[in-house]
Amino acid sequence: MSMLRPLRLVLLGAPGSGKGTQTSKLLKEFGSIKSISSGDLLRKQIELATPLGLKASSYISQGQLLPDSLITGVIGDELKSRDLLTSKASWLLDGFPRTVGQAGALDKYLSTHDAALNLVVELDVPHEVILNRIENRYVHVPSGRVYNLEYNPPKVAGKDDITGEPLSKRPDDTAEVFGKRLEQYKQTVTPLKEHYAKQGILSTVSGTTSDIIYPKLVTLILQKFAR
Ligand code: ATP
Ligand code: MG
Repeated sequence: MSMLRPLRLVLLGAPGSGKGTQTSKLLKEFGSIKSISSGDLLRKQIELATPLGLKASSYISQGQLLPDSLITGVIGDELKSRDLLTSKASWLLDGFPRTVGQAGALDKYLSTHDAALNLVVELDVPHEVILNRIENRYVHVPSGRVYNLEYNPPKVAGKDDITGEPLSKRPDDTAEVFGKRLEQYKQTVTPLKEHYAKQGILSTVSGTTSDIIYPKLVTLILQKFAR
């Protein structure tokens, strides 16, 4: 297992670009990294039918973003309750921030804890490839594990490899809602990338599959953060 200096990473990428897959791989390889996925967190709240889940589900089912103030509070609370607001912890965020407003709020919050972001990586996957993937995607909601019937099928059809629990299709992975999410991403990512390019922490890794992207991502992280 490789040792890293404290890494505070944001993964950017279109819906279906493989942020969740890259996250699982990184967590396996670098035991010190923790992760927060905004989408996974919200899906769990929906499954538990909490007040937050009820609020979130109407946005999510329509492929719309939650208001900045709401999601920013959720992620801030999660960082705090998991003790990640220190300059010693290593973590990555998947799915947050999604807007410049969210990015600015996060910067402010982190700087008061001496834990500013130190890397932002955009996963650059051609959008035709992504559209193909989505119909084959299944998820295990409690863990956030993602399967693809073509590239990464579960060992037993319809069941999570680790727990044996049922997999489900995300209701926002339909062609219609997915198209909206992709359009939404295209409109918000450019200013977000500019925000981080100005800070000198933005990198991009490109590829058509997660297996091509992953080694590039690891090389990048090791170059900058290996002890
Ligand atoms: P994928 O999981 O395929 O990478 P995605 O990034 O579009 O796709 P999630 O991150 O799982 O999907 O988010 C699902 C939904 O949850 C979004 O469409 C949105 O409604 C809501 N959501 C998640 N993160 C945020 C955020 N940072 N700001 C606002 N809404 C969010
Ligand atoms: Mg995701």
